[in-house]
Amino acid sequence: MVELKTDTSIDEMYAAGQIVARALTAARQAADVGVSLLELDEVAREVLREAGATSPFLGYRPSFAPTPFPAVICASVNDAIVHGVPTGYRLRDGDLVSVDCGAELAGWVGDSALSFTVGRARPADLRLIETAERALAAGIEAAVVGNRIGDIAHAVGRVCRTAGYGIPHGFGGHGVGRRMHEDPEVPNEGRPGRGLPLRPGMVLAIEPMLIAGGTDMYYTAPDGWTLRTSDGSRAAHAEHTVAITGAGPRVLTERR
Ligand code: MG
Ligand code: MG
Repeated sequence: MVELKTDTSIDEMYAAGQIVARALTAARQAADVGVSLLELDEVAREVLREAGATSPFLGYRPSFAPTPFPAVICASVNDAIVHGVPTGYRLRDGDLVSVDCGAELAGWVGDSALSFTVGRARPADLRLIETAERALAAGIEAAVVGNRIGDIAHAVGRVCRTAGYGIPHGFGGHGVGRRMHEDPEVPNEGRPGRGLPLRPGMVLAIEPMLIAGGTDMYYTAPDGWTLRTSDGSRAAHAEHTVAITGAGPRVLTERR
């Protein structure tokens, strides 16, 4: 069931979204050669703690997971697509990092992710990240009343495919609200004009995931969480929590 949010609820969700935005900005600023993924997690934890927010990631255990998630961010490096568990791994020159973070404030959740490089960037990585951001922007632009879920999915998928990248099947966006994962699903590829009509008060996480090698294949790492590309190529992830309003899409996790 898709729950529609009131304008007041959307304002409250914006407050949660802004904490996520700050946590991601802080994690990105802290990320450098030699910094560990656990240190990035600690930076994000501190932002949540100071804001009086809790983490919807910490202790999260979906049906596929062997263990509760142990951190407030997912940190996915290089061939890791999403759901990377922060470890003592220290970032190296040229790494591509995707950080995903959530926050819960006053019972409302925000969910957002970004990808960036550390040290000297490979041009191919910059192009991959730029395409992920462009796919996200296209999805947000399609998140308007009168469109359907398939229009968002199509907009996201077209940007990814046109650039020659792969899209991991079965993973994508979702409704956000009191819980991190609500209905509806928001696929990263689809047919325009199909699916649920978009209505004011729907809040969606739109989150393109791109595989540089151009295949759609991935596997779950032995930790039971991390999704990695089957071809070993690098991956990028971009995500915002977006409210559909009569005045157009409102990005609740915008970074300012
Ligand atoms: Mg996320
Ligand atoms: Mg999400």
